[in-house]
Amino acid sequence: MKPCADLIVTNISSLLTLSGPERPRSGVEMSNLGIIPNAAMAISGDTVIWTGPVQKLAGAVDRHSATLTIDAENHAVLPGFVECHTHLVFGGTREDEFARKIAGVPYMQIAAEGGGIKRTVRDTRAASEADLMETGLQRIREALRLGITAIEIKSGYGLNMETERKILTVARQLAEQTPATLVTTFLGAHEIPVDRSREEYLDEVCEKMIPFVAREKLAEFCDVFCEKGVFSLDESERVLTTGIHYGLKPKIHADQLTPGGGAELASRMHAVSADHLDYTGPAGMKALADAGVVGVLLPGAVFFLGLNRFPAARDMIAANVPIALSTDFNPGSCMSLNIHLMMTIACTRCRMTIPETLTAVTHNAACAIDRQNRLGSLVPGKQADFVILDCPSVETIPYHFGHNHVKHVFCKGRSIVENGIVLPFQTP
Ligand SMILES: [Zn+2]
Repeated sequence: MKPCADLIVTNISSLLTLSGPERPRSGVEMSNLGIIPNAAMAISGDTVIWTGPVQKLAGAVDRHSATLTIDAENHAVLPGFVECHTHLVFGGTREDEFARKIAGVPYMQIAAEGGGIKRTVRDTRAASEADLMETGLQRIREALRLGITAIEIKSGYGLNMETERKILTVARQLAEQTPATLVTTFLGAHEIPVDRSREEYLDEVCEKMIPFVAREKLAEFCDVFCEKGVFSLDESERVLTTGIHYGLKPKIHADQLTPGGGAELASRMHAVSADHLDYTGPAGMKALADAGVVGVLLPGAVFFLGLNRFPAARDMIAANVPIALSTDFNPGSCMSLNIHLMMTIACTRCRMTIPETLTAVTHNAACAIDRQNRLGSLVPGKQADFVILDCPSVETIPYHFGHNHVKHVFCKGRSIVENGIVLPFQTP
């Protein structure tokens, strides 16, 4: 018996299925997008049930009286983008600091005057849950408009129990009120708060916050900013080990500003992902590849900070590190959710090919949030999160940069963005 479709998308110029192994993909695997030319796709409920050449559709799939057919108008279709590293819930913004930085004021001076991350912590502590919900909803609408259908959200601008809890609670509410798939990460170890000693704060993170976050099921992952002057390797290991003990899967901000052994630590801890990696050398790359840890590159942060050391993506791909790409959306180093622009920067500054960037924002990004069983590809059994572009070729995305080529977006088989406009959310 043929499966019966609720929704059929036909007349697709090029369907990027990202079919292939379900584990993180590395090396030449990153170039294989599982493209079906002149394709159609069938969906039942929230799940893809069939993909193939358009002329095989009638023989493969049945319709019922209410089956909806969408004509993709000979445009490209791809999985919804997976945004696997954001700090999306925070109070305040810092455009005045950006203006001062481009005028030549060093970050250290801005930070010494109470600016930078300290300021966002103050603003986030002062914000009400309702304020954070409102800006959070605006940001998720923006993400959906860009075709991003799954988003990881980290805490880390609270640096005390009350505000870390508030951020993760808001993220959980956003997950209930929006059609996007949201996953949450506890990043209490983002910085040392000004009102606590280092030892006191680390003890609080490990002895109070992590057990609380795990017990209340506020996060699925635990992250740490492993960096010279922030958290050392030993401290980072303590945080992640505690997280694992309480059932939180490890992630790590590693080797962003200095080569600190963060990639090797990620490998030892079997982290789901190691993120940034701007300074990771050959030993770190080998460690990540051997352990199958996804390397999440965040070149938008390097770009916005005006730095020149981009992650060595070509060496990583040659070393078989599976690569994902993300914005790092945050108020200090990347106030942009434009994942398309990150693809362009990855192409021009990290020398990634266009197919590699596409694997990095879909399947491998899904692996970086441990959702590859449902997200990041369009093969039977996967969640029907997909994007219909306004153009026949996906290469247009990084090429015609600064323009949003996303025309329609579907989450779980339901239309969410129509002709570039985000529809009002229906609570499920
Ligand atoms: Zn980050």
